[in-house]
Amino acid sequence: PTTRSDPPAFYPEGARVAVLTTQPLGRPFDYRAPEGGVRAGAFVEVPLGPRRVLGVVWGDGSGEVPEAKLRPVSRVLEAPPMRPELRLFVERAAAYTFTALPAMLRLATRAPGLGDPPSMRRLYRRADAEPTRMTEARERVLEVLEAAGSGLTLRELTEEAGASASVVKGLVAQGAVAEVETPRDAPFPRLDNEASGKPLTADQAEAARHLRAGLQSGSYGTTLLKGVTGSGKTEVYLEAVAECLSQGRQALVLLPEIALTAEFLARVEARFGARPAEWHSGLTMTERRRVWRMAGESGAQMVVGARSALFLPFADLGLIVVDEEHDSSYKQEDGVLYNARDMAVLRGSLAGAQVVLASATPSLESWANAEAGKYARLDLPARFGAVLPEMRAIDMRAEGLPSGRWISETLARAVEARVAAGEQAMLFLNRRGYAPVTLCRACGHQIGCPHCDARLVEHRFLKRLVCHQCGESIPVPAACPECGKEDSLAAIGPGVERMAEEAAARFPEARLAVLSSDLFASARALKAEIATIAEGGADIVIGTQLVAKGHNFPLLTLVGVIDADLALHGSDLRAAERTFQLMRQVAGRAGRAEKPGVAMLQTHQPEHPVIRAILAGDEEGFWRAEAAARQAAGMPPYGRLAGIILSGPDPQPVFDLGQALARADAPLTRIGAQVWGPAPAPIARIRGRHRVRLLVKAAKGAPLQGALSEWLAQVEVKPPLRLAVDIDPQSF
Ligand code: ADP
Ligand code: ZN
Repeated sequence: PTTRSDPPAFYPEGARVAVLTTQPLGRPFDYRAPEGGVRAGAFVEVPLGPRRVLGVVWGDGSGEVPEAKLRPVSRVLEAPPMRPELRLFVERAAAYTFTALPAMLRLATRAPGLGDPPSMRRLYRRADAEPTRMTEARERVLEVLEAAGSGLTLRELTEEAGASASVVKGLVAQGAVAEVETPRDAPFPRLDNEASGKPLTADQAEAARHLRAGLQSGSYGTTLLKGVTGSGKTEVYLEAVAECLSQGRQALVLLPEIALTAEFLARVEARFGARPAEWHSGLTMTERRRVWRMAGESGAQMVVGARSALFLPFADLGLIVVDEEHDSSYKQEDGVLYNARDMAVLRGSLAGAQVVLASATPSLESWANAEAGKYARLDLPARFGAVLPEMRAIDMRAEGLPSGRWISETLARAVEARVAAGEQAMLFLNRRGYAPVTLCRACGHQIGCPHCDARLVEHRFLKRLVCHQCGESIPVPAACPECGKEDSLAAIGPGVERMAEEAAARFPEARLAVLSSDLFASARALKAEIATIAEGGADIVIGTQLVAKGHNFPLLTLVGVIDADLALHGSDLRAAERTFQLMRQVAGRAGRAEKPGVAMLQTHQPEHPVIRAILAGDEEGFWRAEAAARQAAGMPPYGRLAGIILSGPDPQPVFDLGQALARADAPLTRIGAQVWGPAPAPIARIRGRHRVRLLVKAAKGAPLQGALSEWLAQVEVKPPLRLAVDIDPQSF
């Protein structure tokens, strides 16, 4: 049911206010409404202890606390009130993820200058009027204004002209300078929804027709748009954007990586004649403010952004696209834990919007939802103007490589042939740095992070050992820190930097480009490198996960996966799904233009079912098998899972707390849920904090939320101990 047109509630006496504090206070507080009352959703300043904090009016605050005891709301800000649909979204998202309301609300109020009035006064030179008497200061002011062309604020003008405010006021009084009230933030350029896109293929046109029909229904619906890389998913969902814009509603497109934004923005501009608004962590304060305001006033028809864009105060959201919906970066494992894919579906359902989940390799969750009929599914089976790469395995057991080398002879020869033909080859290894392990040859000591349960990874470009969990780094020591022996440290195993070294030695004539997130000082530098590669400025591209996502390298015809087995090791139940997705994606980089591509997978276990499924390209078969295994184990998406992460500086109290929780499991057993643990968390120690995890597994329809609250309420978590709930954990 849509809440778009609900009338705003009004509270004449008391207001219940959700306060934006840094402490996770779970509940709103009641305040006396200002004279004349206050609207639901209004941004207010309220006293909290000795301080004044920002808050949002969440409901009626009269009745519970005696009126005489209520402290008054200090100030109502001029910012437009938060709409009911967004408040409901924040509330549901908080409840679903077991996040305190204020923490969730903060995501929806990350806009600087919330308290600023929406418009400001600017000063202009009036051509038809001269001051009665000219002074030197007045002359300077008028000169600056004339040179500025557009209006200046009083502050800008006085600073630039070196004159006082009273000089300016005098000029205003005499009519030589006009003062005009203008909006602070300018709307974004209009997108031309009439301009037509590329002529679509029959499959694409059919998919676009479905999406347009969904939008015309004016109600909520989710569609899984599945198509191999290069099949035209983007082309198709841009048609849905066009439909949305023609209805005068707003469209939001989420991308998993900022690095992908530039290419996408250019494409939108080519299609609609103007750039959409962007929303990500790289924006300046002024830019953030503008996007936030314009999203709320329909001055931004389309927003392209990171997952936090889901919390923008859209006036009338008609479409949400989650591109690469399976991408694990949509689930942030730090801060507020939520999966942007699920939250997009929630927001869409509350806004009466259409949600499109696009992927070449959907998550098992989305695949199962489509199977169950909850989502519509559209397939784009063919690549546009290109064929899918051929998949081949290289059996590393037969290659007999000397230790310290990872590029097999078979792969090396294939690379050489491509480069000789003027094409590009890519070597993919999903591991940053030079070597994952630094080991003392004398005593066998492996250098670990002082704060985490992780090995330090050598980064040769930085000449440091770096912890990939907490970021701690130390210079590479000259001697073993354990036994003190000099020159005894050895790099074990390959990282992407080491691959670059091996490739440079093996292919001395070739131009190499190394793409790994930590080799670039800025997103801009990375973008530039990607553009260079796309234009043919490199023969061999060596990269981590970064290269798997969405980039279009037309000359690339060979992808060599250095270690296809990498993600299969370990106990994570999602390992198969992840490997399958990653391998198909990486392979999809090859042969995107006229020349057909090949993907070569170096593996020690070519008979592994996952590797076999990848080689055969048997997606539906893979998913069915994976789904059956999960279903048999009662695991997501067929059962529900919640992780409880307990942490603290000392291991014993953390573990004791975990045990206390495990013993108090009555509220959970009552709904038939099971508790496992406490056990060391997947990251058992980070930044000096020890972490244990309990896993709660429940049947799909069980009332897990209520049971969890009741269960967790039984124990007291006193600082420095901490408790966090991770609903639908990524690894299990
Ligand atoms: P995906 O999003 O599935 O990876 P894209 O929409 O990016 O696919 O399409 C891949 C490439 O093919 C892009 O360069 C796109 O412009 C082009 N393309 C796709 N469909 C068409 C079409 N109908 N006409 C012309 N070019 C197309
Ligand atoms: Zn660390």
